[in-house]
Amino acid sequence: MIRSTDQLIKDRARLMGPNVATFYDDPVHFVKGEGVWLWDADGRKYLDCYNNVPHVGHCNPRVVDAICRQASTLNTHTRYLHDGILDYIERLTGTMNQSLNSAIVTCTGSEANDIALRMAEGMTGKRGIIATDATYHGNTSLVSQLSQSNVPKVGFGLEQYFRFVDAPDSYRTPDPDGTIFAQNVAKQIAALEAHGTGFAALLICPYFLNEGFPDNPDGWLKPTADVVRNAGGLLICDEVQSGFGRVGTHMWAHEKMGVTPDIVTLGKPMANGHPVGGVVTNTDIIARFREGYRYFNTFGGNPVSCAAAMAVLEEMHAENLMENADTVGKYARARLTKLQDKHQIIGDIRGSGLVFGAELVLDRETKAPASDFTDKIINAMRHRGIILSKLGRHKNTLKIRPPMPFSIDNADLLFDTLDDVLTQAL
Ligand code: PMP
Repeated sequence: MIRSTDQLIKDRARLMGPNVATFYDDPVHFVKGEGVWLWDADGRKYLDCYNNVPHVGHCNPRVVDAICRQASTLNTHTRYLHDGILDYIERLTGTMNQSLNSAIVTCTGSEANDIALRMAEGMTGKRGIIATDATYHGNTSLVSQLSQSNVPKVGFGLEQYFRFVDAPDSYRTPDPDGTIFAQNVAKQIAALEAHGTGFAALLICPYFLNEGFPDNPDGWLKPTADVVRNAGGLLICDEVQSGFGRVGTHMWAHEKMGVTPDIVTLGKPMANGHPVGGVVTNTDIIARFREGYRYFNTFGGNPVSCAAAMAVLEEMHAENLMENADTVGKYARARLTKLQDKHQIIGDIRGSGLVFGAELVLDRETKAPASDFTDKIINAMRHRGIILSKLGRHKNTLKIRPPMPFSIDNADLLFDTLDDVLTQAL
């Protein structure tokens, strides 16, 4: 059945319930993707500047082929012996510090974070978790309670286990060496201990992507890691968005921020859209978890998922996609800087590799967020065939995070169009 856009919106509400999120005032209906391009139901072509899930490009032939080959050979649950999962974990952990040498493969990032929190509980015997006040880590009953920006209306009485620190914001409240953030974490650790809950872990995206990716310098998380370790807690880095070479200079954003976490959680880009997530940790933590929690996951790490995930790593390597992210990311920042000279509304420019963007403000002195205007720009860009989005505490930061094969030509099209749209809108 082919539905019109109006019918799709109505049927979503009828069949999927109310409040199902869509992007844009005029939601878009994609029917095809290839590389960095998407096509809608009317045959219109869009440049994808937003989606990190198709990490190595929409419908990447290597990934499609790996899925087809494995799906036509064998797919089972995960209680039989299979080489695929072991080959993948070896290859994946080979990209990280040698202490991070074992993994659990899941189906989503939420699941991965849920496991990480239970691992922290198992290791410390405590349940207190600290996160930032503007983050998102997933949708399980435990993890969803960490989303202060989208607080569930119905809770499960878990609030006592969570404490929040202000998300870093390099534009409005600079903290160039990360000591203020570390002190805030220390305060919340003390609060959890005083409450009797105790401190188990700090869970953060090392690049603070959902928070608006502040321009923190390399090594910025070192003081925070010291505070966490001195208090006997675990550092969990959620690399669901920031990992797999996205930041261009490093395979993992935690490396860029100068720390080796106890646990790394993964998702979104891991298998280019096939639902795969993961938890990577050390031998002690995984042993305690496997022994203490009778964990089993029917689909997580099945042969097809692992073939897809392996193909992503192979494609990244074969096409030098991390290096591409670095080169194109630097070019993008330079072009954004030129746009900033021209358009007063661009208050700040941020990002590394193929995650970059600009904070739009009504006034550069007061830094008053241009939130409604940002919305207008996102919608105008959609009508000009460019897909991007916004994020951050004030929802006034353009979020540009394209598939990794994004080229300099693609960046030129993006910024020429943005220049035009800003000129017309102002
Ligand atoms: N962590 C981060 C940082 C995320 O951005 C998301 C999803 N937006 C998740 C975890 C949850 O991943 P999933 O939707 O695969 O459960």
